[in-house]
Amino acid sequence: MAKISANDVDISIIVSMYNEENCIKSFFEAMQKVLIKLKEYSYEIICIDDGSTDKTYKILCDFAKQDKHIKIVKFSRNFGKEYGIMAGLKFCKGKAAIPMDVDLQDPPELILDFVKKWQEGYNMVYGIRKDRNSDGFIKRWTAKLFYKIYNLMTRSPIPYNAGDYRLLDRKVVDTILALPERNIFMKGVFGWAGFKSIGIGYTRQKRVAGDSKWNYWKLWNFALDGITSSTTFPLRIWSYVGTIFSVTGMLYAFYIVLRTIIHGTDVPGYASLLVFILVLGGIQMIILGILGEYIGRIFVEVKNRPLYIVEEKVNIEND
Ligand code: UDP
Ligand code: MG
Repeated sequence: MAKISANDVDISIIVSMYNEENCIKSFFEAMQKVLIKLKEYSYEIICIDDGSTDKTYKILCDFAKQDKHIKIVKFSRNFGKEYGIMAGLKFCKGKAAIPMDVDLQDPPELILDFVKKWQEGYNMVYGIRKDRNSDGFIKRWTAKLFYKIYNLMTRSPIPYNAGDYRLLDRKVVDTILALPERNIFMKGVFGWAGFKSIGIGYTRQKRVAGDSKWNYWKLWNFALDGITSSTTFPLRIWSYVGTIFSVTGMLYAFYIVLRTIIHGTDVPGYASLLVFILVLGGIQMIILGILGEYIGRIFVEVKNRPLYIVEEKVNIEND
């Protein structure tokens, strides 16, 4: 096995875990099979325990005792997968980093193709989920809708069905780490960073054990966060809607004045009045909500709190 020292790591695998006690063993076994085929590369596996309440940390520690390639960062509580990946990127030493899930939904064999493309000179090689049959119909459909809306709004589109499973060259990792902001939408940032990229299709597998940590409410919020952290388009759109409403309103006012002059006043109009008030009131509330989203974001940035709190580290030299 290649010797490793602090500055001699070629590939860093980054795995964020939250209550995954039943997946860890299969994950390491599957990884071993792949890493053996990459003998000429030194590696490390950075496991982030994202505040698990089951035996995840203990099991990880047992593995880390046996194998110094396995490193652990333990969060003080559950912060979310995105922050797990951020911590992994920060602590990794590799010339390339590969974030992946522990549940083996991302097939480890794909790493061989990632590395091949990396050697060909690509700075980012991302996995594209060819077939998402392991996800339900609604999840697939909503995911598609999200990509469509997101890509319409931003200038750095995210490739359809590309997840977090990808290889990032050190150049890309350093670019992401240098970003001053707190709230990072990983998928968006990968696209934003640019660099020479290529996608490789793969079939997303079923979870090896345990359940998905996502539900639709979480996904909805994740989508909102993704959009508001990447683009100000939702703010801008209301200037146009406002303009259309004002112009139409003025034309209508003009028409009413004319009609009153010609025909005199008439009482009806209650229904249309109510409709206008309701529609306009609704639109104004939506605008306020959207403004609020962005102000909330500014609030979080200004507070300048750390993204996550590390409680313990195993097999990681101090930074
Ligand atoms: N995960 C995490 N923190 C969380 C939720 C999930 O680190 O708060 C990890 C989880 O352990 C897994 C990966 O993120 O390794 C993907 O989670 P999951 O399988 O629940 O998501 P899905 O594959 O359904 O999108
Ligand atoms: Mg999963």
